[in-house]
This record gives sequence, C-alpha cells and structure tokens, in this order.
Amino acid sequence: MATNKELFDEAQRLIPGGVNSPVRAFRSVGGGIPYFVDRGKGAYVFDVEGRRYLDYVQSYGASILGHADSDVVEAITFAATKGSTFGAPTPNEVAIAKLITGRVDGLEMIRLCSSGTEATMSALRVARGYTGRDKIIKFDGCYHGHSDALLAGAGSGVATLSLPDSAGIPMAAVASTVVLPYNQVPVLDDSVAAVIVEPVAANMNLVAPAAGFLQGLRDECDRVGAVLIFDEVITGFRLSMGGASNYFGVTPDMWTFGKVIGGGLPIGAFGGRAEIMEKVAPVGPVYQAGTLSGNPVATAAGIAALSKLDDSSYLMLAGRAKALAEGLTKVFSDVGVSVTIPYVESLLGIFFLDFAPKNYEESKISGNSGLYSVFFNSMLMRGVALAPGSYEVIFPSLAHTWDDIEWTIDIASAAAGDVADFIERSGH
Ligand SMILES: *Cc1c(COP(=O)(O)O)cnc(C)c1O
Repeated sequence: MATNKELFDEAQRLIPGGVNSPVRAFRSVGGGIPYFVDRGKGAYVFDVEGRRYLDYVQSYGASILGHADSDVVEAITFAATKGSTFGAPTPNEVAIAKLITGRVDGLEMIRLCSSGTEATMSALRVARGYTGRDKIIKFDGCYHGHSDALLAGAGSGVATLSLPDSAGIPMAAVASTVVLPYNQVPVLDDSVAAVIVEPVAANMNLVAPAAGFLQGLRDECDRVGAVLIFDEVITGFRLSMGGASNYFGVTPDMWTFGKVIGGGLPIGAFGGRAEIMEKVAPVGPVYQAGTLSGNPVATAAGIAALSKLDDSSYLMLAGRAKALAEGLTKVFSDVGVSVTIPYVESLLGIFFLDFAPKNYEESKISGNSGLYSVFFNSMLMRGVALAPGSYEVIFPSLAHTWDDIEWTIDIASAAAGDVADFIERSGH
C-alpha cells in the first residue's frame, strides 16, 4: 500500500489541499502529513502504514459507537443488498422519523436530507417561509455548515456587521445574518425570522451555555414571534436520549440533526412543530428536496446506531469523559501548565487558559496561543489522535474503554511535558 506521504502528495495534486473537508488538513497544527486511514475498529483507527491511533475524532462525533460497530455494519450490509437508492419512499424513513421524534419532546415532524449543512440551510428557509421575515440571528463561533447565509461570524469581530467568512459569498447573502456573541441574550424585534444556536457550542472548542442563556433565547423568540432553532448536529443524541433540548429542558421550535443519526453514513434532518413543518413542500410553499434524501442504507445505519443508545450508554459516556477531563487537568497541573478542560456529558474541550471561555472571543485567546498544536503533535506521535484544530472538541465513543482512557492520560502526561518545554523554550 502507498505511504501516507505518497498518498498526500498525490492527493494534493488532485484535491485542494489533499483533503475533502478543510478541518482534516494539518495546516493549523504545524502542517504535517495527515494519516490516511485504512480502517477503523471501535476506538481505534489504523493508517495505511499500519500505525494504530486511539481515535478521539470519531468523524467529528458521528461515530458515537466507535468504528465499524458490528450491528451497524450488519444493518448497512443487509440494506445494501436490497438496493441503495430508489427515488421512492422506503420503510426505513418512517422508522427513523419515528425513532427521532419519539425521543425529543416537542419534535413532531422531520424531513431527512444528506448532511448537516443541508439541514440548517433548509431549517432557515422554513423559518423564513413560516414567519415571512428575512433576518436571522446566529452566534459568533457557532458553526452551522457551509451554506452562504450561515458562513458569517465564525470570526467576525464586529458583532452586528455581517461579513462573509469565505470568498465567493455575495454580501447580499449575509446581509440578513446578524452575528452576536454567544452566551448573551439579545433583545430581538419583530424583523427576526429565526435565532439559530448550538445549544452547546462545540465548534469553537467547547463552550457550554451559561445559566439562563437558552431559556432567555426561548423567551425572546416567544416575545417577538421568531423561530428558535437548536442546531443539534453534534449534540443530538450525544448529550442524552433526547438531545440537548431535553437535557437542558428548553424546547426550540425547530431542530437540526446530522452526525450521530447516520451511524457513520451521510445524513441530516430538520424538524419541528407540525405547524411549522407543514410549510414544507409538497404540503406547503417552502421548497426542499434531495435525490438521496432518506437513503435506505444511511437510514438503516442510523436506526441501528440509535437503537443501541439508551440511558446507560449516556451514563457510561459521561463517566469516561469526566475521568478523561480530570486526568488531563491533573497531568497539565503536574507540569505547571494552565489548562481548563470543560465538559458537557461526552463533549470535552481543552483550553490553554486558567478559565473556561464563555464565547468565541475568549476561546480565540487559547486558539491563538499555539499550544494546542504542540499538544496535538505530541499526542499523535505517541498514538492518540485528536482533531487537527484547536476549535474542535474531543469525542470519546462508547468503544473507548477505561483502559483506553487511562492510557490516554499516560500519553497526555508526556505530551503535557512537551507543552511545558515548549513554553519554557519560547519564553511564554
Ligand atoms: C458538523 C456540523 C454541521 C454541518 O454538518 P455537515 O454534515 O458537515 O454538513 C452543522 N452544525 C453543526 C453544529 C455541526 O457540528
């Protein structure tokens, strides 16, 4: 088999940056060669050179059971033998709609699509169609996929001035997007169609919602008749059986899902109260569609994955995450490096700061320190794979055993030493 380097050289000629999603590149962690995965099993991935990594990327949270779970593999295999796409409805679509709506209080109807990006883009369109308004509010540092209107404010310094975060987006596409700081409840007016928020912000490192933030958004949206959208593409069926809305006891009008609900295959979903979702075509005037939407193989994988999750799964995940957070905190404290490891259930962050950031501006202080890069490379070299970016979170899966967690902490102890050395050498 080709080496990582051979593959990466060729990939860079054929694919921009050699990767099919920029977060996979190693540019923000020193620019090394990404490991090309040959296979994964449980908590581990194996690269094309036979090197093994304990994997905390887990497809950015999509693989909550770990890789190649045998029940999921069986469901995919069986579904594939029956045909992988038809352009006609299939029973799995009904089954997964029932599974998902059955777990989340207030979620009455859903529509399946093929990615989280499609889910958030479509939810906005529905919210605008339902309210007859244009303006949307998003929070700085929250990621909602890469549709034009939502690619503003993952870096904007001027809160109310919407600037696109990417070339190729017309100013007009973000003209109705208002970007505000996370964890501050804005005062809305009746020009607002929707407020979209990650109920736990997991794309600016990990920032938990402050007490009263989500409820405050609920109250403001109620006051002005705006649609509250929880983007649960990460939190959905990771925080609890009922996702973040049930976990925090705040019910939005609409939800978006992705990642976990596909059991590792491409899927997305948006949903909400029936009154809102009945605005969607063919019942209502808001158009939304997809050739592969509700794909029989993806839904089979999703159903298999969701069916394996129960309250005990979440208890187990939370226990592992807590142990990992405490272990990481200790190894850094042992070498005198300030870190804060916030966690919400099985989502963990890592900040090279002595406090937990409340918003993106604060998170960037850690992001800009360069210390994550040192930690990342030191962990990777020793066989533990974290995401190659300081704004991603750590995703333990159900396949991570207590031994895996203990081993991670051992490895982190050495890596923390490397961070301490780096700080000393660079005179931080
Ligand atoms: C990953 C993510 C998305 C986008 O999902 P894709 O499947 O990558 O398009 C949207 N919102 C949140 C919160 C995400 O983490």
